[in-house]
Formats: sequence, C-alpha cells, structure tokens
Amino acid sequence: MKEQTLAIHAGYEKDAQGTMAVPIYQTTAYEFRNTEHAANLFSLKELGNIYTRLMNPTTDVFEKRFNALEQGGGAVGTASGMAAIFYAIANVAEAGDNIVVASQVYGGTTTLTGHTIKRFGIETRYFNVNNPSEIEALVDEKTKIILFESITNPSIDVADFDAIVAIAKKYNIMTCVDNTVATPILCKPLTLGCDIVVHSASKYTTGQGLAIGGIIVEREGLVDLIKENPRYAHFNEPDASYHGLVYSDLPLPPFTLRVRLALLRDLGATPSPFNSWLYIQGIETLPLRMKQHSESALKIANYLESHPKVKSVNYPGLKSNANYALANKYFTKGTSGLLSFEVESKEVAQAIADKTEIFKVVVNIGDSKSIITHPASTTHQQLSAQELIECGIPGGLVRLSVGLEDTEDLIADLEKALS
Ligand code: PLP
Repeated sequence: MKEQTLAIHAGYEKDAQGTMAVPIYQTTAYEFRNTEHAANLFSLKELGNIYTRLMNPTTDVFEKRFNALEQGGGAVGTASGMAAIFYAIANVAEAGDNIVVASQVYGGTTTLTGHTIKRFGIETRYFNVNNPSEIEALVDEKTKIILFESITNPSIDVADFDAIVAIAKKYNIMTCVDNTVATPILCKPLTLGCDIVVHSASKYTTGQGLAIGGIIVEREGLVDLIKENPRYAHFNEPDASYHGLVYSDLPLPPFTLRVRLALLRDLGATPSPFNSWLYIQGIETLPLRMKQHSESALKIANYLESHPKVKSVNYPGLKSNANYALANKYFTKGTSGLLSFEVESKEVAQAIADKTEIFKVVVNIGDSKSIITHPASTTHQQLSAQELIECGIPGGLVRLSVGLEDTEDLIADLEKALS
C-alpha cells in the first residue's frame, strides 16, 4: 500500500461494531478468560492485553500505523517524546556505559544526556553532527548507542546518515534517530540503515498541538545486531525480572518488546488511550500536511533570504544552504516546516517575535498554527553560553515553525515585524 493509504488504514481492523473511526478503548485493565489465559499472557505464550500501562488497543493502532509509515519492525508508544528518548537510552545503557550524541539536538535531549543520565552513571560524549568523523574517536566497548536528529531542532542541520551509519556498523553500535522534525513522510531513517527511531508525537504527528506523546520504532531484523553482541549482553542473557526471558531468543522485535515489558512496566510513561486516538487522527493527514508545511517553509525561507535585516537563513531546502546536498539525498518530498534566521542581536530577535501577530510566541513546533520562538531565552535558556555555542544557537537566532495558514499572510506578518 502507498503511504497516504497506510496513514489512513494501517493497523486497524474493525471491531465487532464495525466502527469506521478507531474507538478509544478507555480502560485501565482487561478481563482474562480464566487464570490460565492470564498466565499465558504474562508468560508471552499468548499475546494479548494485560494492563494499559503495557498496552492498549487504541495505542496499538497508533503503534502499528506509525510503524508502517517508518517501515519498521515494531513500535511502542510513550507518554512524551522525552520519555521515548530516555527509554531508548535506558534500554541499552547502564551505569559505567557511555552514549554518543550529536551536539545539535533539542534542548531537552541536551539536558537529559548532559545532566540527568549522568546522575545514573551514564556518560555522554558529543559529536558535531556536521562532522560525523568525530564519532570514531569517541566510541569504545562501553558505547551503547549513537543518537542524533535527522533534521536538528533548532539549529536545522541535516544528518549525514551514510557517514554515521558506516561508523556505527564498523563497531556494531546501535544508531537512534530522533525523526520528529522530518516525520516518516519526509525521511525514513530505518530504510537508510539506522536501527531505532524516536519521535515526539506532540509535534507534526498530532499536527494541531493537541497532546504530548512519543513513540519508539525499531528496524526489522534488529536482532541480528543484538544477538551475541557483547554490547547488548542484557538482551542475550536471562532477564531475572521476567522469569529468565531472553529477548534475543524471541520471534518478536526485541528492542521495543523490552521497552514495553521492562521500562513501561517499571517506569510507566505510557500514552493515554485518548492521546493515542489524537495521534491517529493526526497521522491520517500527515502526508498531506508535511507537503504543505515544506512548501510554505521554502517560500518563507526565500522571502527571508532576500530581506536586508536578515543576516542568514537556515533552511535545508534553500539552494544556498550548506545542507542542501544532504537534504536532496535523504529527503525527497520536502524538508519540513522548521527554519531559523539570524538577525543582528538578541534584542532585535526578541522584538521581531513580539511584533508578529499570526506567528505566535510559543515553545512548540509542528503545529498547524505558525510559531515563532527565540531559543536562547526560552527552550535553550538552561544551557550555558558554551553549550549554546556548541548547539549553534546565537542570541540573534529566531526559529519559525511554519504552519498551515496562507503563506501570503505569513509573509505579510513577518514583513511587518521586520520593518
Ligand atoms: N525531540 C525533538 C526534536 C523535539 O523538538 C522535542 C520537543 O520539542 C522533543 C524531542 C521532546 O518531545 P516532547 O515534548 O513530546 O517530550
């Protein structure tokens, strides 16, 4: 099936009522046929619903549909994008291990990797996403995952997948891509040789800024990388917390299964059925919306590039952009709705954000409503001056998340704010 068809139908088989819309299964728990049935579900002899912290029929449709769009081998929903990123790390790394992360990532990912997981004894080593050859000097036998964003937020760089994947494969290390900005419509990292994809579903997936959520997707055949790989010994050894289950021995996607059985069980950042239903509504129009977001952002980037007050514009769809070649290589249908531009100073940037009317001052991206953000004073405020430079965020940087309003109105709004 083609992508737009998958976006509308994948993962849903009508229940006995024949409901066209996916129902919201608003329930905490599920009745077992008898105790034997319950025991079979707990021991994975049979697969089925146990408790909504682990699975839910509405969330199941969201997971299957998203998995189909990413062309993955299995998916698990989470309560937020940050939970998805944390679980992807926690699923492989423990105290004494390290992870290799691009410096240019979302601010929450920077604080998670640079501060929070440090307290759990996991070290983060950073590389410049524009210079992936740096990765090689950072990895050792304790490196568990290489994490980067396909299109980075907010610096809007594009990852060189081939270069990163080549190093990861050389050392048998998992790659994990935050594909939030690109969405599976514009880029499918699992088809480019990456192992895990994480998303904030709070952005383009819901599409209208409706609900916080996340998802983790693993590639088909990931078990080949895990099996007998000493980096991932805990996938190959009996899990004492689950009757000695060995994840890599099961005919099920090991990574997302372990997130579900161990991390959702113990940490519980599960999406609510209602939120999963909202993500499903968003996915139905995701292919159409991503096309429009990309077209409008390109028009606005062209406009800004010719404006005398704008020092530089960062949008990978622009021919002048340093990432244009990479964008053309990996993104065939557009380069999403996120762009940034730099003006003279922090004060000028803040004044522009204060003057726009259609572009709202909000710390979000991927909404149908256009958004303007000053990262240095908001999303990245907690970063030190040095961290800001490393993330590529000067004080005069303004980020736009171009929504679905008429592009002429959006340009007129910016024209007024820049005058
Ligand atoms: N990844 C990226 C690229 C993001 O932009 C964000 C949030 O802005 C996140 C992850 C975190 O997602 P959430 O807000 O759903 O936790």
